[in-house]
Amino acid sequence: MRKIAITNVSIFDGTGADPYHGGVLVEGNTIKRVIKGEVEGWDANTETIDGRGAFLMPGMTEAHTHFSWNDQPSLAAIQFMPPEEHILWCVRVAKRYLEMGFTSALGAAAAKPRLDVVLRNAINAGEFPGPRYLAGSQEITTVGGLGDNTLPHLPFRELNFGEVVSGPEDMRRAARMFIKYGVDHLKINLSGEYIAGIPAEASPFSEEEIAMLASEAKRAGKRMAAHARSAESVKQCVRHGIELVFHASFSDEEALDMLEANKDKHFVAPGIGWLVSTIHHAAPWGITEEVATKMGYARELEVASASLSKMHKRGIRILPGGDYGFAWMPHGTNARDLEYFVKYIGMTPKEALLSATKLGADMMLRSDDLGQIREGFLADIVMVEGDPLADLKVLQDPNKIALVMKDGEIYRNNRDICPAKGDLSLGAASVGDERTRAAVAG
Ligand SMILES: [Zn+2]
Repeated sequence: MRKIAITNVSIFDGTGADPYHGGVLVEGNTIKRVIKGEVEGWDANTETIDGRGAFLMPGMTEAHTHFSWNDQPSLAAIQFMPPEEHILWCVRVAKRYLEMGFTSALGAAAAKPRLDVVLRNAINAGEFPGPRYLAGSQEITTVGGLGDNTLPHLPFRELNFGEVVSGPEDMRRAARMFIKYGVDHLKINLSGEYIAGIPAEASPFSEEEIAMLASEAKRAGKRMAAHARSAESVKQCVRHGIELVFHASFSDEEALDMLEANKDKHFVAPGIGWLVSTIHHAAPWGITEEVATKMGYARELEVASASLSKMHKRGIRILPGGDYGFAWMPHGTNARDLEYFVKYIGMTPKEALLSATKLGADMMLRSDDLGQIREGFLADIVMVEGDPLADLKVLQDPNKIALVMKDGEIYRNNRDICPAKGDLSLGAASVGDERTRAAVAG
């Protein structure tokens, strides 16, 4: 079993403690020891990495991922990518997440029925590098709802962005179809979205339809996720037990009360980066601040900042990630959300980091073995140049991500790996500088 010691690092262990100087020993896929202070005395079979003072933290979780979105400026561009190219695109994007320190991700919806499921299975089988992944369905929507992109003169359901249902029995059919495909959770669009020309505050689904989704999900032991910007859609999530609440921008006091009363059950992933980037970074694609304001996004960001700040104060779990994969917020830039959590929601940098690590593991249903640098936990580890607690922007810079390990395997590393003592004969190619070599030789 491979043994790797990462020494001389500042450890942010994800428990809420302040970072401390120390080292970590990984054996196979497990964190075997976490040591405060100087570390020495590894057995002869241990390889070592000198962290040179870097910041070591648990791998991050992206809570609202669309791997199949293709970094283009429109929803139509996603829809029109043929399936063959589309799955290859997803494979490439999954690697990008891992290399930016996201070792877990939750699929918020796939653009075609089986993209998420096929990708998850391939990652789990070790065929391609990618984060630990929970696969979503397509977006389930209704006639005229967000994701119903059929054109009046081309009413082909097969080409559609979302799965359009109308009425409880049709909902049952859709739910069973995605359960048959093997999704981890069912995604429903309970509210609108300005860029699609449907008001964010619209709530087009009936109670009977949502209740049907919930009963089918429950029978199959699946969780549910919802695009829920309107106040009413957030309340529908709580009423019907939809665990994963995306956006929640327009939550009113009643919605906040309902979420708070059920805060151990729900996770909120607001996707705040989408609001900020669409207002401030989309001008090269024709969406100037003026256009975004006319669409409604400036007002939504203002309302969302206020409601999410209250949500955070009430102890409702808020996680980073959401809707990356557009031209003005390409995949891989997802750590922007942590910066925005501090700026717009009033989190401390430490709270933002904990939401990406500890809370991420809770959402992945892995509270007991993921999301912390802790003995016996799985070795999902990120090493960063600089101090994210002083400047969260370092997490957005690929050059600052020094090491990414998932399940004990190294996917990115800019440090020398010193071979185990017994293996010094392997030669200088894999050995670090003289100082480190001397340290290893003792
Ligand atoms: Zn989304």
